[in-house]
This record gives sequence, structure tokens and C-alpha cells, in this order.
Amino acid sequence: MADQRKPDPSGKGVPARKPAPARKAAPPAKGKAVAPRPSAGEVAAPAPEGYTSLIEPRGAVSEFLAPVGGFGVTLSNMFRPTVTEQYPSEKVPAKPRYHGRHQLNRYADGLEKCIGCELCAWACPADAIYVEGADNTPDNQRSPGERYGSVYQINYLRCIFCGLCIEACPTRALTMTNEYELAGPTRAGMIWEKEDLLAPLRAGMLQAPHPMVEGTTDTDYYRGEVTGSTPAQVAWVTEHRPDDPTLPGGAGLEAANVPGPTAAVMAATVAGATKQGTR
Ligand code: SF4
Repeated sequence: MADQRKPDPSGKGVPARKPAPARKAAPPAKGKAVAPRPSAGEVAAPAPEGYTSLIEPRGAVSEFLAPVGGFGVTLSNMFRPTVTEQYPSEKVPAKPRYHGRHQLNRYADGLEKCIGCELCAWACPADAIYVEGADNTPDNQRSPGERYGSVYQINYLRCIFCGLCIEACPTRALTMTNEYELAGPTRAGMIWEKEDLLAPLRAGMLQAPHPMVEGTTDTDYYRGEVTGSTPAQVAWVTEHRPDDPTLPGGAGLEAANVPGPTAAVMAATVAGATKQGTR
């Protein structure tokens, strides 16, 4: 910036500024006694008369040991067991009721519990869940009853793991696991799809879609009266999907329980982070 000062005609340089007039001290408020402040260089004024400290005066010995006493907490902690967790090389299990990532559960015969009602999405305070429902048909029966969740997404950049969604679910389709390793290299990858969230198939389950157990209603399923797949269901899957790995004599549950695309990427990311942590 250009110098805005005017040149001095006398040639003696820039004239010195006039010292600013000293500020007058503000008059004390009426009815309030104020102790005079010490001027610069003086020690602080003694405590006003009538003041009694609540701190007990120390004896000569405790005055002498006071600096050492300050290390008491440090010294006592030196002999306590170490509580530092060596994560991620050693994973500490979370508490049983920890709110981790979600899971979409299945009934004992493999049908999905989600009916696509969207109550979880409405209950979510962070607007992290998106659901679209669709009608079950005889060729595409994915859950007991009329409807199933055709699209199910949870955005883990928004989710605050409050658990209101699982409280809202009328069929206990949605629960929360203890898994806390949720990291990803992309923002889009933090949106988990239905295939990522579905619970793994267990022994006795058949991959959906397939018909409901003969002679049952969705209420029977809800009451827990279905305990596994039946020969009629096995026959239906054999006819429509002869290569299904969940069929008796098929490739097995390991081949059926392939993680969804987002879950697979996230598992690889977390595994990479764990490897770095062990170096
Ligand atoms: S998870 Fe539960 S609340 Fe959400 S859409 Fe499915 S059935 Fe409804």
C-alpha cells in the first residue's frame, strides 16, 4: 500500500504523535466499595478486611511435601494394570447391547422378515434409510404375506446409530449387530444396499424367493411356528433354481453367503487399515 502520510516541510522527519490523553478512571458504582488497584510495579493489594479463606493453612511439613504430592496420582497409576487397547491389531468385543451396523433378518426357512412398510425410514431422525416395497407374487415370494422390501438402503454417513428404526420395525426384521468397523474409501460406498444388510443363510434355510410353508399364514411366521424349510419348498427351488447352493447337496452355505458389493469393499478397506495398524 502507498504511504499516505504528508511529507514534513521542515525536513526533520515525520513529527512525533501527540501522546493520547490519559483515560479517566470510571467512578465507582454507587453503594459498592471498591479496593484501590495497585499501580504498576506494586504487589497485589492484601485481601480485603473481613475475608476468610476456606483453604486450611498448611503446616511447614506439608508445605515442604506439597510439590511431591502433586505426583501422587502419577505414581499410583504407574502400578495399575494397563488398559490401553491395541486396536486394530487386537479387536475388543463390543458390549452385547452395542448399536453397530444393521442387519435384515430372515425366518427359519430363509424368507425375509422385511415387509417393506417403511416405518423404519419414517422413524429415522437423520433420514438415513430409504425403502421401497413391492408385492410378493407366486413366482417371487420373498417374505411371508403380501409385501416385501424390494429396495433397502442405509446411508452410514447419516446414520447416528440411535436405534429408533429397530424399535419401529413391526416384524423384528431390522436389528443392530455389534459390528463397528464401518469405513470406506468413497461416499457412495457408505450407502449399504439390501444385499449387504441381509442376514447370512443358516442351516435349514433356503435362498428366497420360494413359497411359504404349506398351510401357514404370515401370522404363523411371526409367532415363530415355522422352524425350517419343508420338502415342498425344496422341491419348488429344485424346479426353479436347480443350481441354488442352499439346496441339499448344493454348493453349500459358504457359496450362498457371498457378501454384498458394498460390504465386500468395506471389509477389504478395514482389512487394509488393520494391516497398516500392525506395522
Ligand atoms: S425393516 Fe422393518 S420397519 Fe423397515 S421397512 Fe422392513 S419391516 Fe418395515
